[in-house]
Parts: sequence; C-alpha cells; structure tokens
Amino acid sequence: MDYKSLVELHREALINDLKGLLEIESVKGEAVEGAPVGTGPKQALDYMMELGERDGFLTKTVDSIAGHIEAGKGGPLFGILGHVDVVPPGSGWDSEPFTPKVVDGTIVARGVQDDKGPTMAAYYAMKILNEQELPFKYRTRLIIGTDEESDWKCTEAYFKSEEMPEAGFAPDAAFPLIHGEKGISTFNLVQKNLQVDETEPNIELKVLISGERYNMVPEDAEAKLKVLQNMSEVIQSFEDFLRENEAEGNYEVDNGFLKLGIQGKSAHGSTPEAGINAGLILIDFLSRLNMDDNAESFVSFATERLAGSTDGSLLGMDASHPELGETSVNVGMINYTEVDGGVFGVNLRYPEGLDFKAGVENLDAEIMEQGFTVEDVDFQPPHYVDKNDPLVKILTETYRNHVEDESEPFTIGGGTYARVLEKGVAYGAMFNDTEDTMHQKNERMKIEELLLATEIYLEALHRICIKGELDEN
Ligand SMILES: [Zn+2]
Repeated sequence: MDYKSLVELHREALINDLKGLLEIESVKGEAVEGAPVGTGPKQALDYMMELGERDGFLTKTVDSIAGHIEAGKGGPLFGILGHVDVVPPGSGWDSEPFTPKVVDGTIVARGVQDDKGPTMAAYYAMKILNEQELPFKYRTRLIIGTDEESDWKCTEAYFKSEEMPEAGFAPDAAFPLIHGEKGISTFNLVQKNLQVDETEPNIELKVLISGERYNMVPEDAEAKLKVLQNMSEVIQSFEDFLRENEAEGNYEVDNGFLKLGIQGKSAHGSTPEAGINAGLILIDFLSRLNMDDNAESFVSFATERLAGSTDGSLLGMDASHPELGETSVNVGMINYTEVDGGVFGVNLRYPEGLDFKAGVENLDAEIMEQGFTVEDVDFQPPHYVDKNDPLVKILTETYRNHVEDESEPFTIGGGTYARVLEKGVAYGAMFNDTEDTMHQKNERMKIEELLLATEIYLEALHRICIKGELDEN
C-alpha cells in the first residue's frame, strides 16, 4: 500500500474537514440539557459523528459527552483515542483563534495541535484504510472525548458502557511513542491541634502564602509577621539569608508588621527539581526565627518532611523503576494563617513498585505526632506498557519507516490520554523538531506534519487491524 500517495489524494478533504472542526469553539462551558460540558464540545462531537456517517461508518454517541466511529466487523477491538475539546484561547493571538488560517503551510487555530489536528489525522487514516475494502482482523474504533482538558468525564462515561479495546493509542502527545507514565497523586498535609501559645514569642506568623496549583512549582511566596522587638535584627538576618542562599527576595515594614517576599522559579510539577520553590525557601528562613508555637511546628514540619529533597524519601514514598524513573514531590501550594494553621498541597508522582495507598496510610500515622494529617487524597496509578510489547514495537517501527529518527520510545512523569486505555500508548502527533504550542497563543501545526502523521497512522492501522501483526509477534 502506498501510504504517502493515498494520503496525498485526500489532502484537500482532510484540511477542509479539519478547518470545519477548528471553527467550533469547543471550550468547556456550562452544562445544559444534552450537553454536559457545554454546547461547544457537544457541537464538535456531533461534527465528528457526522463525518463518520457521511463516510459510511457506524457511529455511537455516549451520554452526549463522548462517542466513537467504527470500521470493520467481528474480531477484537483496536482503539484510537482523541479529543475535540480545547482550552480557552487566552489573549495575544495574531489571528482569530477559531478562524483557522494557513500561514506559510502552517494552520493556526486553537486546538490544531491539541488535539483536533492529530484526531483528524487518525480519522483520515481510518477512512483511507476503510476505502481499500480489505477485511479487518481488528475492528477499529476512533473514540472521541470532549472533556480531556478538564475532568475526563468523557472517557469515564464512555467506558462505563462501552467495550475496552484490546490495545490502542492516543494521538495526543509526541512521536515516537510514550509507553509509560508515572502515577499522579495530589493530597494536602493539614496542620491540626492548634495550641494557644503561652510563651509570648517575639515573632508571630500571621500569614504565609505561596503557589496556586498542585502541578506547578511556586515562583512567589509572601509572609506577614508581627515582630514585637528587634525588627532591625530580623531584617538584617533576612538580608544575610538572601545573600548566603543567593535567593531573591524583598521586605517591607508596615505598621509594625514585617512583610517578606521570595521569588523562586516556576517549573512543571513533574520536574520539581528544575524549579526553585519560593515557599520552601521562605520557610527555610522562618525556621531561623523564634516564632509562636503553631508557626514553629508548621515550619519544622516543612523542614523535616518537604524541604531539601524532591525524591519522596522524606515522606517515606521514594521508589525507583528502570523505565519510569523515581518518585517526584512538588509542594505546589503552601498556606498558613494564624487562625487555621498550615496546609501543604502536594503533587507526588511515582513509578510502578510503590504501594501508594499504603504509603499514604503510613505517612498519615507518622505525621500525627507532628500535628499533621493527610487529606483530600486523589491519585491515578502509573500506566505502563512493556517496551518489548508488540504494540510498542510495531508502532515504533512504523514511525521509523516515515521519519529518519532512531529515538527510542520513552516515559514521562506527566499524564496523557493514553492512560485511559488498559493497554495504550501515546503516539504523536508532535515530531522531534515540532514546536510545542499546545495551550498557547497562535497554536499551530504544519500541514506537512498533519499529512505525515496521517501516513504513519495509516500504516499502523494497516499493519495492526488488517494484517493482524499484533498477534504474530
Ligand atoms: Zn490533548
């Protein structure tokens, strides 16, 4: 089968169908009757279902929030999982985000890279394959979600009633292929049993605030202290601290209160070691002061359990896996008030080999003495497909048939849509030299990349669903 010329024959139709999809403002909105995540995402779902019907496929919508387009009859199921919802466009665009524009062979529009372009590439691969009128060994299903950018209610609803594919891929990340993703958890470490302080400390910590999201390293931190005596000494030691630690910070005296600020460096929650956690630095300074009891126990908890190491060992949840790497801990949010005490919002990511639930239970028991508990635990387990699995081998080989790139399949600390599939990998559609513009202004995708991804998907589906190569390996 000449994948390249088959795709080239469909060039105009593919681009036109994609443009139609890109014109739909499928940002999550208010739930209304028949559109649980808003009318935009529903309209985008309907659009895909109509394409499927137009081209003679079976289609099915599930709870108005997900759906599928299916080719072939009988046999096991192979799945491709894409999404047609998008994040809000934000500002600063050079063109209208929902009026796709072609500039120098590149399509510019919200969602073209994440994930409407790759989803349309996969759809056309399936359509072109179906047009060859060959018998399918695997039924092939393009599953479409409309809530990927928010709560994944789409796939949750879908797989409640629909069949889980034997294997599949999600065209919602990068080539060559992502075969493993860490477990992702969030939880809060909450201070309890606040005491009335009878020691009359020199310094009272009124407020400390740092960070807004679990999955980002906080770049700013601020604290407000009441200093009863020796204000200038405290300021001097802050200045010394900044110098010794090469930290960036500032202070302000206001009505007997001392306000301290620290500037760190932001980074994604999956790579906390790449950032500088402003909140933990500020706490490091506070640990040198003589403060009220509640503040002291808040600060010493952070010093013992959270600062200085991001590998989970201070929480008793360190683990390591040859492919998935090590546990990582990001303290994404820190909040303290005199009245309510402290809360640390933690984003912990972990490889296979760690019993997360047991780890949390142990931690909760251990930190009770320190006046803390673990609350609001949420987690998704690690997702891993063996590198030697036929699925990984066939898809990697297929990619290499079209691109001169010997990069190996890889693993990440983040999460992709592929983790929804029992045996699923992320497969494209960013190439090794593609600029990642997902979630950014002027989101774009080269038409040549769109066509190349379609070719790759076409060969992959041909080998797996027609030739049945998954079963031969
Ligand atoms: Zn996506």
